[in-house]
Amino acid sequence: MFSYRHAFHAGNHADVLKHTVLIAIARYMAEKDVGMTIIDTHAGAGLYQLDDRFAKTSGEANEGYAKLVTAMEAETNKKSAGLAPLHDYIELVKTFAIEGNYAAYPGSPFILSRLLRAHDKLRLFELHPTDSDLLIANVSALQASRKVLPRQVAAFKENGFAGLKRLIPPPTRRALVLCDPSYELKEDYGLVVDMLTDSLKRFSTATFMIWFPVLARREAQDLPRQLQQVCEKAGKDFLCASLQVKDFSNAAPRYSREGNAPSLRPGSRPEANIEPKAAGLAASAVFVVNPPYTLKPLLVNTLPKLVEMLRVDAHAGWTLD
Ligand code: SAM
Repeated sequence: MFSYRHAFHAGNHADVLKHTVLIAIARYMAEKDVGMTIIDTHAGAGLYQLDDRFAKTSGEANEGYAKLVTAMEAETNKKSAGLAPLHDYIELVKTFAIEGNYAAYPGSPFILSRLLRAHDKLRLFELHPTDSDLLIANVSALQASRKVLPRQVAAFKENGFAGLKRLIPPPTRRALVLCDPSYELKEDYGLVVDMLTDSLKRFSTATFMIWFPVLARREAQDLPRQLQQVCEKAGKDFLCASLQVKDFSNAAPRYSREGNAPSLRPGSRPEANIEPKAAGLAASAVFVVNPPYTLKPLLVNTLPKLVEMLRVDAHAGWTLD
């Protein structure tokens, strides 16, 4: 466990899908005055650098955020229905490019921190020994910068599946839960199903967004059907959107969420001898429970644009169920 570091994958096409949908949901929820609690059960380190040794090792942002930025530059009507959510996502990411540092890429905690209103709260969980320390330090810096109110954002070095249970329902009875495990352990698939089953009993009106990789492995194939069954049993609306950028045979032989992060000898200088390469996942999906009614039309317009802009080969495509 804990070989997964999101720094290797930040800004990849899966982050583009996940973060674009996350922004769209949070913006919709912020239209209603009542305060909300946003819970990120698997937060990662919070902030990344697309030019550091981790991101350069995988080169995954070249098939994701970086490719999207280039493609969007050629578009003349960035506010059109299909492009507006992508434009919104890029503009939000760019707000982290301070002092000429254009390689800064925010993870979900920092994306969400930009969308908070004074009466909203953000609660973050991260278990990785290094990334949880980084997250806590990044959140402290955010608080020191006064971009958020004191105690508005809190990060916990704690299991997110367990931590979620004590936070829902929140006092305002409005919540958005992002559940974005690394699926490093195959048990994560079952834990996600258990999380949704239990959470809907505690607080059935929360909006849940669950990210998962589209892989040949049985647990990944079964997950959307199992989540659908939980929703049907609870009488809850859901949607599931997937984005594929390339053929599965064109992806990394072993997806690094299962642990193929390069092992770097202590003291070695990886930047000097590791060539950037494009690899990684071929496809990913988000499963949204209690989605805003605006999300489906948004995705119908935006997913084809994403495929057009991020396609690597003829196997690229999207689905929306
Ligand atoms: N949500 C982040 C984003 O979009 O920027 C990326 C999160 S990354 C895909 C998944 C994270 O979950 C990893 O940093 C991993 O260490 C962490 N993790 C794994 N199991 C966990 C658990 N049970 N509770 C909390 N964090 C966990």
